[in-house]
Amino acid sequence: MNEKELLGKYCLVLGLEIHLHLKTGHKMFCGCSADIWEKDPNSVVCPTCLALPGALPVPNFEAIEKMQLLALGLNCTLNKDSRFDRKHYFYPDLPKGYQISQYKQPFAINGKLDLQSGNIADIERVHLEEDVAKSFHEGGKTLLDFNKSGMPLVEIVTRPCFKNIDDAVDFCKQVQTMVRYLGIGDVDMEKGQMRLEANISLRTKKQEEKNELPPYKVEVKNINSFRFMEKAVRSEIARQKEILDEGKTPVQENRGYKEGVGTVAQRSKEEAHDYRYFPEPDIPPMVFDDKYIDSLKHRLPELPAQIRKRLVEQYGISNDSAWVLVETLGLEYVKKMEEVVKLGVDGKSAANAIVNKAELRNLPADEIAGKLKTVKEVTDETQLAELVKKVILENPKAAEDYKKGKETAIQYLVGAMMKEIGGKADANAVKKEILHQLL
Ligand code: ZN
Ligand code: MN
Repeated sequence: MNEKELLGKYCLVLGLEIHLHLKTGHKMFCGCSADIWEKDPNSVVCPTCLALPGALPVPNFEAIEKMQLLALGLNCTLNKDSRFDRKHYFYPDLPKGYQISQYKQPFAINGKLDLQSGNIADIERVHLEEDVAKSFHEGGKTLLDFNKSGMPLVEIVTRPCFKNIDDAVDFCKQVQTMVRYLGIGDVDMEKGQMRLEANISLRTKKQEEKNELPPYKVEVKNINSFRFMEKAVRSEIARQKEILDEGKTPVQENRGYKEGVGTVAQRSKEEAHDYRYFPEPDIPPMVFDDKYIDSLKHRLPELPAQIRKRLVEQYGISNDSAWVLVETLGLEYVKKMEEVVKLGVDGKSAANAIVNKAELRNLPADEIAGKLKTVKEVTDETQLAELVKKVILENPKAAEDYKKGKETAIQYLVGAMMKEIGGKADANAVKKEILHQLL
């Protein structure tokens, strides 16, 4: 069933929360290395990230800068006054009893990002927080690994702006691409370096026209792949539709996605006041001036949207090719395409080879250029004329036949010519040139 059929008389209301790890030298509030991947459990820890009494947090400025660069890439406004807050909840992977996060004064607010569909993603806020430990549930016991505790974690929150799954997935993919272009994180979803949450509810078409939000939302947590995101949203649409069709309202709650099952209830959703947010007393509020914010803007590299636009304008490649090249294949292939161009291949052929030809894409740029040049289309008129002359000389009988009135002989000559150049020319242009030389 496609998404429209699945929704029936309802419209989808979808907002996203994306959590992602930054690549920094050390953790968010302590001196531990942030390179925790594939390390022995509890081997990258200290009193601060173990939450031992008396240990104090010291903010990691590298993480703040990188997070602010990402926020600028997402066209957010950076707050000049910002601070950290404590978000309280109890869970074994959070022994402090609170997470240092941001509430009223996040680092960045109000971003926008163009989606491939032409719609626009509406970003409410981007803030920085610390990650929690990792729990393993084995044989009735729970084991904790604190390596991940205190890792810098960016949270991007969108408004409920997505009306279909494709737009939501496109946004997540673009965020991933942006982080990689900025060089501030690996965002490997398999390692849990990027985790998705979707706030999902349904409304009637009438409500949508009035821009009215439904009186509930269901948060599906910890989605760790784009494919699961699609499945989780679809399963939630089906579940909520059934409840709404009975005239009831779905319960506001957190649910998790389970492969083969759908979404399953976790706990009823807290309200903000349940977290008893208050300013983190161990970290003073931060002030950023215009000079600093300008210097960050100057440090931004060419962003994916700018590269897409430039590729289309500079090389005349299609918008769709630019999307695949920049968003799906990534910076490495954009660079390769431009290298191939520098080696004398036109932009369109270079882009076509890299976007559409998997067998060429992974060769070094000079080999791609070499292969493309040998099969280059014969578009040059003098070259075409010379080749036609040669083909006519080599096929005197066909040429004679045509002159005697045998119309089909021309097809024979066109065929001979195309064979000669491996089909790399416009057949109409070839025919025109042959007629021109025979008459
Ligand atoms: Zn530590
Ligand atoms: Mn969070």
